[in-house]
Amino acid sequence: MPDAARGARGWGGIGPQLAARLAKLDIRGPLDLLLHLPLRYEDETRLTPVAQTHDGESTQCELTVRSSEIVARPRRQLVARAADDSGELVLRFLNFYPQLQKQLLPGTRVRVFGEPRRGFFGTEMVHPRLRVVSADEPLPQALTPVYPTTAGLAQSALRKLVDAELRRRPLQDPLPAQLRQRLGLMDLAEAIDILHHPPPGVAPESLEARDHPAWRRVKFDELLAQQVSLRRAYAARRSRRSHRLEPDASLTDRLLGVLGFSLTGAQRRAWREIADDMAGAHPMQRLLQGDVGSGKTVVAALAMLQAAEAGFQSALMAPTEILAEQHHRKIAQWLAALGLEVVWLSGGQKKRQRTQMLARLAAGEASFAVGTHALIEEMVAFPRLGLAVVDEQHRFGVRQRLSLREKGEAGTSPHMLMMSATPIPRTLAMSFYADLDVSVLDELPPGRTPVVTKLVADTRRNEVVGRVRDACLQGRQAYWVCPLIEESEALELQTAVDTHQHLCEALPELSVGLLHGRMRGDEKAETMTAFACGEIDLLVATTVIEVGVDVANASLMVIEHAERFGLAQLHQLRGRVGRGSDDSVCILMYARPLSANGRARLKVIFENRDGFAIAREDLRLRGPGEFVGARQSGLPLLRFADLERDVELIELARDEARRLIADSPAAADALLATWFSGREGLLGA
Ligand code: ADP
Ligand code: MG
Repeated sequence: MPDAARGARGWGGIGPQLAARLAKLDIRGPLDLLLHLPLRYEDETRLTPVAQTHDGESTQCELTVRSSEIVARPRRQLVARAADDSGELVLRFLNFYPQLQKQLLPGTRVRVFGEPRRGFFGTEMVHPRLRVVSADEPLPQALTPVYPTTAGLAQSALRKLVDAELRRRPLQDPLPAQLRQRLGLMDLAEAIDILHHPPPGVAPESLEARDHPAWRRVKFDELLAQQVSLRRAYAARRSRRSHRLEPDASLTDRLLGVLGFSLTGAQRRAWREIADDMAGAHPMQRLLQGDVGSGKTVVAALAMLQAAEAGFQSALMAPTEILAEQHHRKIAQWLAALGLEVVWLSGGQKKRQRTQMLARLAAGEASFAVGTHALIEEMVAFPRLGLAVVDEQHRFGVRQRLSLREKGEAGTSPHMLMMSATPIPRTLAMSFYADLDVSVLDELPPGRTPVVTKLVADTRRNEVVGRVRDACLQGRQAYWVCPLIEESEALELQTAVDTHQHLCEALPELSVGLLHGRMRGDEKAETMTAFACGEIDLLVATTVIEVGVDVANASLMVIEHAERFGLAQLHQLRGRVGRGSDDSVCILMYARPLSANGRARLKVIFENRDGFAIAREDLRLRGPGEFVGARQSGLPLLRFADLERDVELIELARDEARRLIADSPAAADALLATWFSGREGLLGA
């Protein structure tokens, strides 16, 4: 693991072995140690008489040992009896060092911290934390911090390390005094001190809820650091040159003429924003986002045509073969009506065809390319690449996007349009995507009939099969999505094959197709084409159809073991139906018993149609990790700020970041050094 290796060098008097353990906690230097803040606290500032303790509540008691013995049943354990004036407490240790028994001699005074329980043998604590004390030993003045830790690193050791660092030297506040005053922010060193060792009088609830001024300061700085680094990355990319791709409408007008529909207001707005960016002398860095079915593809096609109007090439890259293939099918069909050709590039294609395509791109004969990662491979030359469109941008790593950028003419960068199939909640867009301009398609094309969602227990599978038969015999088409089996791709494949087999037998009057991730690219494409033109009635598929598949006549979808899927996935899948004007139905089959989480997810999908609302719930249930994906590799996710609760701080940080960069660049540097310790290298991509 490179991270551990980096830590293993040791720092500030910490040896390589300890450094490696600390690195697992993302602690790689003294500042990280200071910012390793407690998960919670234990109150050892008070003593509670045994008689006044409550079951299950963490409590500290001071007791005198009466007896201790090792008993063999039901298993070997050390049982001590100890008491204060109010009553007796049984202390039970299942694992213990011989040393412990020696300590617990009758008459010894001990402080124990644990959760008492009243039981058959009286009140007892299992595995309390225990310390021998003298009669007048003072109580600690502050709450005791409990830190997130890792195997091989004891809580007490971590406490010592943090305390040593807290004592070592005062932390320089990175923010100018004037800024702190204006925003009423606590001094950083003081905030950090309070959070490690809350003095008496600090309300525990305000620490718990993280709304104490000390938390506010730390969260603000964290968000500000994120904003500053993203804005700087934005500015750095923005400072490059691009070719101005001025529109002349000669091609885009023709596309609008052959589409057979008119753009929604949201599409027109987004297109205008993109067109303006592309006409500029600096690279566009824009995120186009919108719900499933909001019509992002046509906006991308318009942008590609604008590039061509200015005499430049454009490329659209998608993370999977099937998604790229869908884009190609759609865009090629639109552009064919204009007499234009779209080159297809993928890893799965035949060598000869590929070589031919590459030659045409390199010679500048072809203007449009759609494909997978194959597009960014070394040999692919785009001498006049003016626009790069990246779909499902979060699935690509920073390096991949970087290398796409390098494709254009030396000294210039292509304009970049990122697309996201999954709506991104506003707070997330404001924080993690602060380095992009954002266009939102917040309107669905007219004439869509909302998809009716049904929850059905899988004991009613036969009924569901009957329903599929009826729908298909009426000329509709259906998807049957096989269960997701995260642990084993082989098992998932086998299940898909079995399901296909079973449905073929159960529905002999239908033509049933199968689509899964292990099929060759051309096989997948063939199957999709057969489904798209109605030769296949029912398509049994694994989640390869999750993104982008667009067959308007398909109006029924069955998802098996829906409880295993994530929210975004279910929403994406459901978005595959309801694309035509037929009434559409999505049947979510689930197996009992449902876990609390599985139930919560199904409820969200059942109750919500709006992708943004679902995304907000998803963010709440799972945190930002899944959304952000490969995007932030090299940069930690937010540790303290919460995208839901800290909206106000996010907005504040966004506004202040601009000011700080402009007015106090040195303070901005100091802030980044505090938070990232030089680890933000990949952000600039
Ligand atoms: P997504 O945003 O999910 O990628 P698509 O681009 O696949 O959505 O569009 C979904 C479907 O809606 C496609 O069949 C597309 O041709 C169609 N479509 C797009 N824009 C409009 C519009 N303004 N009016 C009618 N249909 C549209
Ligand atoms: Mg799409």
